[in-house]
Amino acid sequence: MATGHQSVVYEMKKVVAKFGGSNLKKKEDIQKLVNVIKAYDRPMVIVVSAFYGITNHLIQSMEAVKSDESKIKTLIQFLLGMKEEVIRENFGQSEWADKTLKAVEKRIIELERYLTGIHYIGDVPEFVEDVILSYGERLSSLILASILQSKGIDAEEALPEEMPLVTDGEFGNATVDYAAAAKGVQKRLAADKIFVVPGFYGVSPEGKVTLLGRGGSDYSAAALARCLDAESLDVWKDVDGFMSADPKLVKCPRRIKTLSYTEAAELSYFGASILHPRTVEPLQEVSIPIHIGNIDTFEGMVEPRTVVQASETITEDIIKSVTYSDDFCILKLRGAGIGKKRGVLAKVTGVIDKAGINIKSVITSQIAINLLLSAKDIKQAYQLVEELELSAVTELSAIENISTIAVVGEGLLEQPGVAGRMFMAVARKGINVRMIVSGASTVASYFVVASTDRDVAIKAIHTEFFG
Ligand code: ASP
Ligand code: MG
Repeated sequence: MATGHQSVVYEMKKVVAKFGGSNLKKKEDIQKLVNVIKAYDRPMVIVVSAFYGITNHLIQSMEAVKSDESKIKTLIQFLLGMKEEVIRENFGQSEWADKTLKAVEKRIIELERYLTGIHYIGDVPEFVEDVILSYGERLSSLILASILQSKGIDAEEALPEEMPLVTDGEFGNATVDYAAAAKGVQKRLAADKIFVVPGFYGVSPEGKVTLLGRGGSDYSAAALARCLDAESLDVWKDVDGFMSADPKLVKCPRRIKTLSYTEAAELSYFGASILHPRTVEPLQEVSIPIHIGNIDTFEGMVEPRTVVQASETITEDIIKSVTYSDDFCILKLRGAGIGKKRGVLAKVTGVIDKAGINIKSVITSQIAINLLLSAKDIKQAYQLVEELELSAVTELSAIENISTIAVVGEGLLEQPGVAGRMFMAVARKGINVRMIVSGASTVASYFVVASTDRDVAIKAIHTEFFG
């Protein structure tokens, strides 16, 4: 019977929360996750990564298994033992424990089959590699969903292949195709309950598992948030969000309450390990905020320590944070007029790109071309360029053991004097700055020093801007 009242249905947006390896180190850590999830008290999507160190362990075992069959057993026993400990710790000896253990064993047997396959062919095809490495996450999601259920919480595991979370299909380092994925993701995760999703992978248009790059669970959570038009992406850490510098190097760093998307992206790119550098990518365009919480100081209230959002605040001292990375090396090509000769840069970047090596930055001058590369790639890149035997190049060198130090803050390019203050601070300590890059980003400038000078440089800059 009509009552005459208009009923309005407010659809509540979802929150996507991500818990990473740093939240999953010890078997007791799961309890902390459960407490946080309970405090939200709302339907949401949880994304988990593998337990701390498990992905590296899988990588090493996968290599070893190619030639040594006994390594399959070693790995399987290790995983079973570890997961059983986690399960016994969190369920006691209940029926739930047995049921969960069975499900985990079943999943570990799937992994064993893939490992047996690669042993017999003596090689790891890339599509199999991606499947194998996704098992760290698959074990976390299975166990967490089951623990939540055992506590009477309406939770369910949802796998990326069930949605599907469609990617561009690049193995090892895929990009999520939001347009292709959104409908399926929304449908699979529509119910008003808690979904637990393994991070780190999506599936190609053909349905093959594709990893989203190392540390990629943050990015998968961001991609899901984008597909769901979530209220926020909440990333839980074991530290206090973004800080003005690494607390290990600087005595009293300041917590940064708000950052713009670009500032967060640059800080992450230049080494702040709070977020994966790609996390901002899916969210910036649609202005979904990122909340960073600290699970170790959690006391019952879901409260972000840092919020990353669209608005840009320019602070008085401009600089919000100074960060560093040791994962930069320089490949230096010298030769008179090399910067002016046509084709040299194209040939060099061509061979490096073809080998699948990412060039982080290129800095050229009249007499030199400097390529900034990841430390793991420098030897191979050196060889490739050497083999080109370019007549314009009289000297080729690989500069290792360097660090990049970046300062980040909105307004940095417009405000005169900021770079000057930074370099004066470093110069007063007698540090030799080997290269300076400013202007490539509107919110970041960086320079290169010997790794041995890194800590002193960071401290000097931090004191200059933050006292
Ligand atoms: N477990 C994966 C890795 O170690 C993904 C992640 O932790 O975000 O790379
Ligand atoms: Mg991680």
